[in-house]
Amino acid sequence: MTTIYNFSAGPAVLPKEVLQQAAAEMLDWHGSGMSVMEMSHRGPEFISIYRAAERDLRDLLAVPDNYRILFMQGGGLSQNAVIPMNLVGRKRDPVVDFIHTGSWSGKSIKEAARYAKVNVAASAQESRYTRVPPQSEWKLTPDAAYLHLCTNETIDGVEIDFVPEVPAGVPIVADMSSHILSRQVDVAKYGVIFGGAQKNIGPAGVTVVIVRDDLIGHALPICPSAFDWKNVAENESMFNTPPTYGIYIAGLVFQWLKRQGGIAAMEQRNIEKARLLYAALDADDFYQNRVDPQYRSRMNVPFYLRDESKNEAFLAGAKARGLLQLKGHKSVGGMRASIYNAMPIEGVQALVDYLNEFAGR
Ligand code: PMP
Repeated sequence: MTTIYNFSAGPAVLPKEVLQQAAAEMLDWHGSGMSVMEMSHRGPEFISIYRAAERDLRDLLAVPDNYRILFMQGGGLSQNAVIPMNLVGRKRDPVVDFIHTGSWSGKSIKEAARYAKVNVAASAQESRYTRVPPQSEWKLTPDAAYLHLCTNETIDGVEIDFVPEVPAGVPIVADMSSHILSRQVDVAKYGVIFGGAQKNIGPAGVTVVIVRDDLIGHALPICPSAFDWKNVAENESMFNTPPTYGIYIAGLVFQWLKRQGGIAAMEQRNIEKARLLYAALDADDFYQNRVDPQYRSRMNVPFYLRDESKNEAFLAGAKARGLLQLKGHKSVGGMRASIYNAMPIEGVQALVDYLNEFAGR
């Protein structure tokens, strides 16, 4: 049987070991006689699952004690509204700064503009989102309510690999949906880190928010109670029923990551996987990745065939070899290979072999 490698941008591949463990525990979790899906979120079984997941994520990212980890719902897009609703109330005439590096930060800008004045401090639009504008060009607001970045643009394949300098007191809010847990981060440099789970964490339906204590408790009156970080934090993410099964799978992924050696070890593997893939794309001009090499994402690798009339043949050949979901996002066309933590190097090597074969190398 052909080995299947799934390059979907999300929902995405999960570690096989995690799926096997979930399958083994599906009908009877640890002798409880219940599936995790059937448990009360307030019962001791689920509370133990929740607390282990929270602790393991805290360990993996070395989250300082003055940060809360919230497991919410609504996805990354809902946080685009939830974040301003929770943060702009700290200012009298709030301005939110944004760096526009691609599709997802673009969506965040539009949504935030419904709640506050938005300043696009820098935009990569003129480069068609193939680079991060140099910090020397950023026009930051000295007392902004916050600075929002998408540190990995999933569609454009652009990754911000540095923590920017910001005016004192301005919290950095980072959408890390598509690269959280793929590389080491200094959480203390951020006010808020958030992301949907469906790429590097677990199934869709869980949204992770890591927020510094002093940024909690300022929600606007219009903020729905279930999206007020204060309510969520005070109730251990159980102000309303949390996505219990998704949190359980996320917890298994966190344990798997620890067994792999944690984020530092994972980052080394991700560097190697990305190096292999970009080298194959750059070998000649048969394929093209248009992103400035300095800002190429290690997780999402968009590419084009020089001769786009071969696109369908490329995808059909890939599928026949078990290489799935390589079609690019509909807004940009071409191809995209997402190589998250759970994609083994063997999968990247299989794709590289196929790239070489299809190019007649
Ligand atoms: N931000 C980024 C970087 C994403 O990749 C995505 C989803 N692909 C989103 C936000 C939106 O997340 P959701 O669909 O969970 O709302």
